Amino acid sequence: MKSLYFIIKEKGVILRTVNFKESSLIFHLLGEKFGTSKIIALGVKRPTNPFKGTVSPGNIVEIVYYKKESAEFGKMREISLIWKPEKVTRDYRKFLIMGFLLKIIYMYTIEGVKVSGLFKFTEKMLKEINEVEPKRNVVYSLVLKFLSVIGVGPEIEICLRCSQNLQKGYFIINEGGVFCEDCASNFFDKVFIDRKNLAYFRFLRDKKLKSVKNLKIENDENLKEILLNFTNFYLGETICKDFKEILKREI
Ligand SMILES: [Zn+2]
Repeated sequence: MKSLYFIIKEKGVILRTVNFKESSLIFHLLGEKFGTSKIIALGVKRPTNPFKGTVSPGNIVEIVYYKKESAEFGKMREISLIWKPEKVTRDYRKFLIMGFLLKIIYMYTIEGVKVSGLFKFTEKMLKEINEVEPKRNVVYSLVLKFLSVIGVGPEIEICLRCSQNLQKGYFIINEGGVFCEDCASNFFDKVFIDRKNLAYFRFLRDKKLKSVKNLKIENDENLKEILLNFTNFYLGETICKDFKEILKREI
């Protein structure tokens, strides 16, 4: 029986690469049209290969690949570089932040399932990370923005139960956001958030990375605790652990 071949042309971000044999790479692409896919680039590490250096995490590329109907991998035929995170490769802390973002996306996405808006978000964030001074607020902001893009961003404007506008409140992680004092009274597992930190949360979620980098957060521990708990609940332990690790570095 003949199996079907598809030829796919796709713009995407390279999320992750793994060595395959001596001269080849397997990579995960977050594509604009089809979501994530796993592709093999045969011989791409050979010095004479015309595409050498193009298959690298964080690169935005246009790619043509074959995919057999039943195959696990696509096979790369051509690739051209659209953009690369030039400044990230020269700055260790930017590199850590970019790696963290790409890992979250890689861990979160399922092959062949498109998450609407995720490619655009990733492209935008990579370009901002490339330019921004790498501070911990940038990491906070990235996590909040990512949660929002995938639809589990915390509700921080109104009480989740009575819908009144909130200036301060109680974070209840597994409910997905903030409650007013009255509505929170039945919950045991809650973290108080004051007016300032709630405003910081909104700022971190909504503003560009270059605007959030200089934000002076007075009670950083409170904000960090809420964000870590949120990450643990919605993105899992592995990502939460990486989040903690990155905050321990000189960021
Ligand atoms: Zn309420």
